This record gives sequence, structure tokens and C-alpha cells, in this order.
Amino acid sequence: MRRLIPILSRVLILLLATTGSAFAQNDPEWTEPFPPFRIAGNLYYVGSKGLASYLVTTPQGNILINSDLEANVPLLRASIEKLGFKFKDTKVLLISHAHWDHDAGSAKIKELTGASYMVMDADVPVVESGGKADFQYGNRAEFLYPPAKVDRVLHDGDEVKLGGAVLVAHLTPGHTKGCTTWTIKVAEGGKTYNVVIVGSPNVNPGYKLVHNSSYPQIAQDYQRMFDVLKSLPCDIFLGAHGGYFGLEEKYAHGEEARRRPKAAPTSGADKAGDANPFLDPDGYKKFVAEKEQEFLTELAKQTLAAK
Ligand SMILES: [Zn+2]
Repeated sequence: MRRLIPILSRVLILLLATTGSAFAQNDPEWTEPFPPFRIAGNLYYVGSKGLASYLVTTPQGNILINSDLEANVPLLRASIEKLGFKFKDTKVLLISHAHWDHDAGSAKIKELTGASYMVMDADVPVVESGGKADFQYGNRAEFLYPPAKVDRVLHDGDEVKLGGAVLVAHLTPGHTKGCTTWTIKVAEGGKTYNVVIVGSPNVNPGYKLVHNSSYPQIAQDYQRMFDVLKSLPCDIFLGAHGGYFGLEEKYAHGEEARRRPKAAPTSGADKAGDANPFLDPDGYKKFVAEKEQEFLTELAKQTLAAK
């Protein structure tokens, strides 16, 4: 038995190392290019297949949401230019939350464009320390990145205004302490739509919802986040990862509708079949409800285990 213990502990270390590195590995879809396109009004998709980024264009310059990984900066630039905009016209840089897959490219983008970086108060120490102040990943070298100076500290409900565009920062904490859900109204075809860009409702593997000394109020924060998400009016459902809202399927659907020959105007076409696939209020409600259930299940499991 004495001899077995060192062997067992070695197996355990190996197992931990393997699962650890599997988790540390970035999803290959994060750096896979995706065609940039207009979602609605002055709102465009400029992210990769796995990491969502958005561009809000205005006559006074543009707002970019999510800088993604450092490796994604050239992709972001190419997407913006492919749409006919100038990367240099990026005046404001925002993020969904202070995790490397959404903010590691910020220092580079600030350097290349001179954009003003605006971040929710509780995420500021994390972005300014290059991830070191993160409650979960701060001591994991593989998740650190170049620190970036924040030019404007945002608080819950703050507005970011540029050239007539108004984005509202909603604090939706839990996934990170300053996780932010952005809302904006866009005009399209004589109508105005409420857009919601979800920060992240996910409870990551290894997150402690009970007795978490580095984030004691984490469970209450998650609940607060779900209450906020449920209160937001949503027509156009978006988020920090395309997987949240079915980016690929909706994009393909939109492309297919664009390619379809327009029927004669007398037939009353251009109705339901051509509706913007990103208009998905029911999909939003379903997503939020499912994620809240996942959180509650995990919280119940951890509460029971802590007894
Ligand atoms: Zn995250």
C-alpha cells in the first residue's frame, strides 16, 4: 500500500495536468475567420467563428466591442476593412468581460488605433493587470496577456455615446466581477430594434459558487445577472460567443434569403421568409432560462457537497 500511494499520486498529477492543459487549449474556432457582415442598421459582425466582435459605425468614428485574443487583431482589422471601414476610425473599445478570449488584444488595438478603452469598474483591475487580478485564472500563466490601460471606468447603467450611437453598459456579474451586457437600439427599415449583447452567463469548470474566498458574493452576482438579463427587452439577440445565439445558422439563413431571387412585388413577398434571422426574442428568452437552470443546478450540487 505504501508503494501504491506515490504511484497513485503520480497518476493523479498526470490526470490533472492533462485535463488542465486540455482546458487551457484555446478552441481552434476562436481564430478561424468568419465573413464580416451587417447585422442591422449600423451594427456589424467583425469577429471570428468562435469569438464574437461587433462594430457600431457612426459619422464620428466607430465603436468596437471585444478585442479577442492577440492573434485575432489582424483578423478584426481585415474584417473591418473588408466592410469598407477604416481600422483607424475605431474611437472606442469595449469588452464583454475581462477574460483573455475577449480582451487580450486590447493593448494592441489601443496602440494601432488610439481608441479610448472603456471597461466596467469591477473588471478594470483585471484588464490593467493583464489577467493577474482575475479571481479564478490570475495565477495561470497561459491565461495572462498584455495589460491595457483603461481610459474610462464604467459603472452599471453608464452610457457610451459616439456620433449619435448610444450603448448602455449593464453590469451582469458572476462570470467575471465586471461582466458587461451591452444594449443598443438600431434602426432598420423604418423600425427600431432593441439589441442585447450578452456578456456571459456561464459557470466555468472549476468555478466555486459556495465558500469562494476570492469572490464571496459570486452566487448572488450570478442571480443578479439573470434578473438583469430577464428584464432587458430584446429583439436582436447577440453575445460574446457566436455559440450563444447560433451565429453560423443565422448567418447562413440570412445569406440564403439574400441570394433567393426576389419574387414579383405583387406576390406580397419580402415578408416572413426574408425576416432578419437575428431577430430572435424567443431564442433570447430560451437561452437565458436554460443558462439560469444550469446555474441553479450547479449551485444546488455545490451547496449539497459543501454540507
Ligand atoms: Zn469568459
